[in-house]
Amino acid sequence: MPELPEVETTRRGILPHVRHHRVERVIVREPRLRWPVPPELPAMLEGQTINDVQRRAKYLLLPTDNGTLMIHLGMSGCLRILPANTPVMKHDHIDLLLETGNLLRLTDPRRFGAMLWTREAIHDHPLIQALGPEPLSPLFTGEALYQQSRNRKQAIKTFIMDNHIVVGVGNIYANEALFKAGIRPDRPAGRISLARYQRLELAIRDVLSRAIEQGGTTLRDFVGGDGKPGYFRIELAMYGRAGEPCTTCGTAIREVRLGNRSTCFCPQCQR
Ligand SMILES: [Zn+2]
Repeated sequence: MPELPEVETTRRGILPHVRHHRVERVIVREPRLRWPVPPELPAMLEGQTINDVQRRAKYLLLPTDNGTLMIHLGMSGCLRILPANTPVMKHDHIDLLLETGNLLRLTDPRRFGAMLWTREAIHDHPLIQALGPEPLSPLFTGEALYQQSRNRKQAIKTFIMDNHIVVGVGNIYANEALFKAGIRPDRPAGRISLARYQRLELAIRDVLSRAIEQGGTTLRDFVGGDGKPGYFRIELAMYGRAGEPCTTCGTAIREVRLGNRSTCFCPQCQR
């Protein structure tokens, strides 16, 4: 599933190919995505120039003078820049034909992605409005995590994966960041000290930044070629390593289910 680093890498990958370019045609082959593609999308978008490619949480936002195109990659979506005459495959649901002779193609086998159109100020959009801060922005702080977690009994891992608290900390990154911060994933969020939340803030920033940096090396995959963009992995110390020795102390990594998600931790290093 594309996580925040993959979405950010996608943003950087498509940006130079779509920014300041006009959309000549919009071809919707399959409107049944997570939400139906609005029937008016081609009429709204054709002839418009894409002013920028921004990201908020896992939404890509392409503002034009007429409104903003919102794209979500869902569970299996990807965006690629391809020559206009590239053959259409089964799951290629939407093409934006650009004045450059390229197209921006949304491919999504499982169809949990979305392509929406809004004329509202984007920060007031119902899907965006209630989101917590970006994890790499100055608004995301250990202090804020500490304040918001008081009296909360839910597990710290569930807490940091809540989009209202901070966006973009998916399961893999939550496991890694908690290991790096030395915090047991099932510890109640309300019983963690400010100092430990400050370590956790830094750990989340570090894990996500490294993944984005890693994604930079795959940028060329977003342009041309038949393959999907190669989603990437940072070297994972915890996720998917149940039973293997901890990279720090050698203790066997334990796995539990939290919020029905696989959760790995070192019972020695994480308290
Ligand atoms: Zn350990």
